[in-house]
Amino acid sequence: SHLSVHVPLDGGRAYDILIGRGLVDAVGAQAAALGAKAAGIVTDETVAALYGERIRASLEQAGLRCGIIAVPPGEASKSYACYAAVCDRLLELRIERGDLVVALGGGVVGDLAGFAAATLRRGVRFLQVPTTLLAQVDSSVGGKTGINSPHGKNLIGAFHQPRLVLADTAALDTLVEREMRAGYAEVAKYGLIADPGFFDWCEANWRGIFSGGPERDEAVAICCRAKAGVVVRDEREDGERALLNLGHTFGHALERLTHYESARLVHGEGVAIGLALAFRFSARLGLCSGQEAGRVANHLAMAGLPTRLQDVPGGSGDAESILDAMAQDKKVRDGALTFILARGIGQSFIAPGIGRDDVRAFLQD
Ligand code: NAD
Ligand code: ZN
Repeated sequence: SHLSVHVPLDGGRAYDILIGRGLVDAVGAQAAALGAKAAGIVTDETVAALYGERIRASLEQAGLRCGIIAVPPGEASKSYACYAAVCDRLLELRIERGDLVVALGGGVVGDLAGFAAATLRRGVRFLQVPTTLLAQVDSSVGGKTGINSPHGKNLIGAFHQPRLVLADTAALDTLVEREMRAGYAEVAKYGLIADPGFFDWCEANWRGIFSGGPERDEAVAICCRAKAGVVVRDEREDGERALLNLGHTFGHALERLTHYESARLVHGEGVAIGLALAFRFSARLGLCSGQEAGRVANHLAMAGLPTRLQDVPGGSGDAESILDAMAQDKKVRDGALTFILARGIGQSFIAPGIGRDDVRAFLQD
């Protein structure tokens, strides 16, 4: 009674994403079916306290040897130090190439454990058990793994595909509301990129996603299918995959600007403001109607997400500092920026050559 998404890879390989309530307890049977003898569970302390023992019991019941490696929760754990500690613990647990690294947690754990699995013994199989909405609809699909350097986020990494993804949608019941909402911004994003019917559906069904109804499973499946499709069609990331960055040009800049505030924006909140701004900017450029831009902002606000620069805690700063922050993570050509804009809901496209002056005028409005 779970949903599944099949993800084909290069060279005839493929993996499945299983989606449903209670899948945490199926980890052992799935790991045994893959022929593993041992599993190293990489998680964070918060998730370990909630689901660690259940996963351990499931693996031991299936006859696997296992150990739990828990790092502190939060982005700071995507570090060289944690990476080294995780690898050494996995070696201590005698994890061999036929065994499994299990990433149990949000995107932080998925990226860290995935990178450890990619590099340990030149590649150990790994299984993703994403426990945040963001991880279930975004970071567990696509094979990107990595850690941060003092020079920036995700600068050290590797592509390493999981053997299987088990998205236990009941695990989201314990997620704090703010993280749930942040993940929801990415859910709505898929409708806005290329699936207007899904955005309509979200407007009608978003409450079920938050409350854990069957709509939650359905939404996770639709998002995984959308992301997997894009990734498969554009593995080298020079085309369509860029559309996944809808809302992220503005979003990342705002996240960066609030980085040192105690009440800083979490990623999905930056994305929510970014999505609303991308549509408002598109309307201003005459690409889509103001009514559609309003509909996007209204829906995100209804779900409790910020949608305006004024919503940034402590203020977003002036247009010039937002532009500078955007230029930092985008290819800037002769003072022009690349944006993902939209001709309407579900009609996004890559727009290179947007002038700084146009963006400044828009932000100052
Ligand atoms: P996260 O992993 O830090 O999790 C957020 C918080 O929720 C943490 O405090 C965690 O302990 C807690 N938590 C997790 N699951 C829980 C549960 N079921 N119940 C209660 N609490 C729970 O953050 P995230 O938003 O999941 O992921 C963000 C990371 O994902 C970033 O580092 C980002 O770079 C990365 N990311 C990677 C990709 C990719 O393609 N690899 C894509 C998008 C984002
Ligand atoms: Zn994102």
